[in-house]
Amino acid sequence: MFHYKGGKSRNFRDIGPSTWNPLVFLDYNNFWRTMDKMGKEIPVDAPWDAPHAEEWDKMTMKELINKICWTKAVRDFATVFVNVNVTSEPHEVSALWFLWYVRQCGGTFRIFSVTNGGQERKFKGGSGQISEKIMERLKGRVKLERPVISIDQTGDNVLVETLNHEIYESKYVISAIPPILTTKIHYKPELPPNRNQLIQRLPMGSVIKTMMYYREAFWRRKGYCGSFVIEDEESPVGITIDDTKPDGTFPAIMGFILSRKAVKLAHLSKEERKRKISEAYAKALGMREALQPVHYEEKDWTMEQYSGGCYTAYFPPGIMHSYGRIIRQPVDRIYFAGTETATQWSGYMEGAVQAGERAAREVLHSMGKISKSEIWMPEPESKDVPARPFLRSFWERNLPSAPGLLCLLSCTLCVSSVAAAGLLVCKKVLACRN
Ligand SMILES: Cc1cc2nc3c(=O)[nH]c(=O)nc-3n(C[C@H](O)[C@H](O)[C@H](O)COP(=O)(O)OP(=O)(O)OC[C@H]3O[C@@H](n4cnc5c(N)ncnc54)[C@H](O)[C@@H]3O)c2cc1C
Repeated sequence: MFHYKGGKSRNFRDIGPSTWNPLVFLDYNNFWRTMDKMGKEIPVDAPWDAPHAEEWDKMTMKELINKICWTKAVRDFATVFVNVNVTSEPHEVSALWFLWYVRQCGGTFRIFSVTNGGQERKFKGGSGQISEKIMERLKGRVKLERPVISIDQTGDNVLVETLNHEIYESKYVISAIPPILTTKIHYKPELPPNRNQLIQRLPMGSVIKTMMYYREAFWRRKGYCGSFVIEDEESPVGITIDDTKPDGTFPAIMGFILSRKAVKLAHLSKEERKRKISEAYAKALGMREALQPVHYEEKDWTMEQYSGGCYTAYFPPGIMHSYGRIIRQPVDRIYFAGTETATQWSGYMEGAVQAGERAAREVLHSMGKISKSEIWMPEPESKDVPARPFLRSFWERNLPSAPGLLCLLSCTLCVSSVAAAGLLVCKKVLACRN
């Protein structure tokens, strides 16, 4: 991966930009280490029960970043880290929630890495195929374009009504839609107060996904892999990945317009966004070829009325501690799935699968078909792509933070000056005696 900032592109060191400045280096090291250390205190299945849950939930990530980071360079990169991972701003999200989010994805290195991390694998032919194949297997039982508008649990069966006024009857319902979109549904009887309040408090992130197609993957000529973190307020895109097809056809760079920039640039025309992005790529890559795309596609997820935004919902400060525990609690015969309810890779497809399987097992348990202890089954580790541990060196684990080092140096200086002054006094006393 590469990092573009201040007119220069540099290689990444681990998951942070490389730097010549020892204080910035220590500050990066301390940021990742502290985030992971705090994350380890948070139970993935019950972050509201963490020892400092209330305190950390009152804090925004911006406040936490300001507490941990000492240099502007690391504070700025920490902001990009939040933008990229949860398509929102550090001042918008709870520190408790973000620390939990990173933890349940395996920590800072796992969530942000391409190799051996969250961004390593793609589906040949696209991930949309999963839903399409499942739909094929279910032979006509998947009904599309029928948004649910009401759920009635007052009778023996649950009645689900769709926008085109079809009524479906069932013993149980699994709701797998983002929590805030469930506010569009009418409930009979009304939802319990806590759930009714929770679902009004979980906004979706903001992102525009863009694809810039070129005649050739010209960036590879310069040894670039196509993955860039672009730290430049002028650049619409904050992170890119080479999206050329595995057989080398359709050379393309995928780029995300994240959070504040997605909001700010939404009013531009598609053509204007395309121009701004290709200019940003030309600057980051230092290659004029980037100005000559052959095609451009984009998807503004904030416009989607049945997604509300992407990649996932976020918790503003104060919500996780007060309402978090409601997120998976069934309401009579309605059970809740969706990636937001997962305890591993929540916010990702992986989390959506874990949540769906858990909700299905909750229903099976309620039907008396499985025991309670069978509801939470651990997701099997991938056989093809097992997650390898990230090894941190002795120095990474034990180096002081930047202010820690300065404190150490000033203490050492202080002790040496006191010792030197002491020596001087002794010398003078001895000289007087002689
Ligand atoms: C741009 C972008 C990039 C992403 N990149 C990745 C990635 O690289 N890797 C990864 O793992 N994940 C990624 N994600 C996240 C991933 O797409 C989600 O985590 C996943 O789709 C969540 O699945 P879900 O089933 O919980 O919800 P969704 O996929 O959001 O499904 C919810 C469904 O509910 C439907 N719905 C809404 N309201 C109603 C209603 N009233 N009645 C009936 N149906 C309704 C919606 O139409 C939708 O089909 C990305 C997301 C985005 C937007």
